Amino acid sequence: RVAVIGSANADLVVEVARRPGGGETLLGGDLALLPGGKGANQAAAAARCGANVSMVACVGTDSNGGFLLSELTAAGVNVEHVARVERPTGTAIILLTPDGENSIVVSPGANQALDVAAVEAAVMAAAAPVAEGTAASETGEASPGRAGSVWRDAQVVVLSLEIPLETALHVASEAHAAGARVVLNAAPSVQLTGDVLQLCDPLIVNEHEALEVLGASADDPDATNYARLAERLLIAGARSVVVTLGADGAIVAERGASSAAEEPLASLTAVPAYTVRAVDTTGAGDAFVGAVAGELAAGQKLADAVRFATAVSAVSVQRVGAQSSYADRTEIEAFIVE
Ligand code: ADP
Repeated sequence: RVAVIGSANADLVVEVARRPGGGETLLGGDLALLPGGKGANQAAAAARCGANVSMVACVGTDSNGGFLLSELTAAGVNVEHVARVERPTGTAIILLTPDGENSIVVSPGANQALDVAAVEAAVMAAAAPVAEGTAASETGEASPGRAGSVWRDAQVVVLSLEIPLETALHVASEAHAAGARVVLNAAPSVQLTGDVLQLCDPLIVNEHEALEVLGASADDPDATNYARLAERLLIAGARSVVVTLGADGAIVAERGASSAAEEPLASLTAVPAYTVRAVDTTGAGDAFVGAVAGELAAGQKLADAVRFATAVSAVSVQRVGAQSSYADRTEIEAFIVE
């Protein structure tokens, strides 16, 4: 089982001819309301790939909160531990431009209510057995779930950082101590200490996040030497590292069982991306993280999980939106053999 502890956001998407400058008003296309948020996207992607996924998150009691719950449910995610709180549901305002890039403002809202007490409440509630089919709580408390702890008992725990950092670090160390494999997507990026990196198997970052996690800047001599950045993240403590490089694919760096601390690199694998026409890269990284987690939970090796995730995200960039662009396993497998 996979447990995703993270954000859920309503994505408000508008197509514009270009990004507006300061003080400028532009007319855009029709507004689209789409389900998003790194955590929810990752959960949806893993579930669409066939994994058994539970999400721990907070959304508001507003209509966007209900919308996100129903979209996650439709993707096959267990939302019993998504609490509803008296804050606006997290929102991302996304401007889509013809270059396929996007400009995003995130208002975290209810995601900020996912504090340590809230994730612990999800564990406690899960210990109390209840009838099948209990819906997510309307009361602001995590609702009771089936017997077994929602994230302490998971094989793979997925964390990203659109929730309070303290919560993510708490879950990482508790889940690791309980024997779960912790997948940390350090996005949005922060500098991380060796204590935290030691819990990550893998740490998944894009090239910018890789630098930030190391506390390095863009003028670092290794700034564009991604294999070296991945190796430096291993030296800093990570058990394994995946650096994603957009249309250039990803690099997987793994530690050998008997590697020395200062020379931990045992294998380095470059996984090229598929050549596709990208129309919207929103959520490509999240599709990738969710797919890696699902494949790891199914017992795949990290490099193989990354190969599969590369196909999942290649399909996703060819469609608009994040969760709405994720394909199911049958479609991904058909894409791979094409
Ligand atoms: P993030 O959105 O977190 O920065 P990336 O842009 O690195 O993540 O994308 C994650 C993965 O998605 C990449 O490793 C790659 O496999 C795939 N991907 C992203 N953009 C494209 C693209 N334009 N064409 C094909 N695959 C892509």
